[in-house]
Amino acid sequence: MHAPSLPDRTLEAYADVAGPDRLERLRSLAEALSDRRILHVNSTATGGGVAELLRSIVPVCNDLGIDTDWLVMDATDDFFAVTKAIHNGLQGDGPPLTEGMKATYRSVTERNAAELEGEYDLVVIHDPQPLGMLDRLAEAMPDAAIVWRCHVDLTDPLEEYRAFVAEYASRVDHAIFSRTAYAGDVGALTTSVVYPSIDPVAEKNRSLDETAEAAERDRLDPLSFDRPLVAQISRFDPWKDQFGTLEAYRRASDTVPDLQLALVGAMAGDDPEGMAVYERVAEEAVDDQNVHVLTDLPDATVNVLQRRSDVVVQKSLREGFGLVVSEALWKRTPVVGSNVGGIPLQIVDGENGYLVDPNDASSAGDRIVSLLENERRRTRFGANGRESVRERFLLPRQLADLLEVLVGTLG
Ligand code: UDP
Repeated sequence: MHAPSLPDRTLEAYADVAGPDRLERLRSLAEALSDRRILHVNSTATGGGVAELLRSIVPVCNDLGIDTDWLVMDATDDFFAVTKAIHNGLQGDGPPLTEGMKATYRSVTERNAAELEGEYDLVVIHDPQPLGMLDRLAEAMPDAAIVWRCHVDLTDPLEEYRAFVAEYASRVDHAIFSRTAYAGDVGALTTSVVYPSIDPVAEKNRSLDETAEAAERDRLDPLSFDRPLVAQISRFDPWKDQFGTLEAYRRASDTVPDLQLALVGAMAGDDPEGMAVYERVAEEAVDDQNVHVLTDLPDATVNVLQRRSDVVVQKSLREGFGLVVSEALWKRTPVVGSNVGGIPLQIVDGENGYLVDPNDASSAGDRIVSLLENERRRTRFGANGRESVRERFLLPRQLADLLEVLVGTLG
């Protein structure tokens, strides 16, 4: 296990977006946890939404006086191949779950748990990857409460994967999901829903001055900001459906011939499928100079791309929450997204973007065109998007919800 480096964050940095009442509420929840030690465990320090959340939540908790650590599992490719299969199986697709896969999962999770030093009052295990640490943790820290926070889309899991995870989830003290519909069937006895959030002061989301923005635009050359631009920012993962996004773009470019598409992806340390999906997407797009397939951009560059695209697309087939949707809406960019998982929590159809059937790339293309052809609508949707995220999906709200659950779990 290793501790990732963290940015500096203070609660005060959120005063503008949170308002005094919410800050006060956070301080009083923090007071209730002031003599407790809390540990978050996940399986990657970079790439993907969980790392994004923890990078902000953990330093703010410490600023609030809650002694909070974040540790990332150490594991090899064979473990991550198994845990990606578990992730895929929970989202409804995957190979048979073999005894060999289960053995790999158990041995790596137990080894990580055995390495853990120190005493905690509460451990938050994020996603299925570290869930197998449960028994060793319970032995080493019998008084610690264990919370499982699941960020996966559990709409339609494969039974053998659901049962495998449920066997662990039935033994945690509490489980947290990103949507009410996910909470029912994975074994946890007591559950809550906490919607994730974006961090408005992070490099990814803060406003940039002219010079900084121009520098990031240059970095994206030959992509042009003077021609229509659509972007999808996602790990290269079958569930993110970059091929569907390409299809939607092709349909839209029949009407808007100078349209450009940026498909941007990061390689998460715990996602072994990334490189193969990236190569297939890049190959598919190789003959089209208006399609830019880019990897591992700095946060400020992603920021500018989300901010300066005319439309952001999120054509996922499954989606636990989809932070990228709120990231774009916060920057006043309308989003065309699939009506799956956490996306409809964020997109209000016809208000800040459009929801489309995940299997209907043509409709996504048509919705992209209807936004590209109507600047006033884009501006109105953009303003609505900014306000919808301000109300529901910024860090102080998530943190208050999360701390309330942790206080309740500790009793
Ligand atoms: N992300 C990024 N660069 C990329 C692709 C993704 O920084 O090239 C970030 C993205 O901005 C977001 C997170 O990774 O903060 C993805 O979170 P989301 O909840 O959308 O999806 P997940 O990867 O967790 O399924």
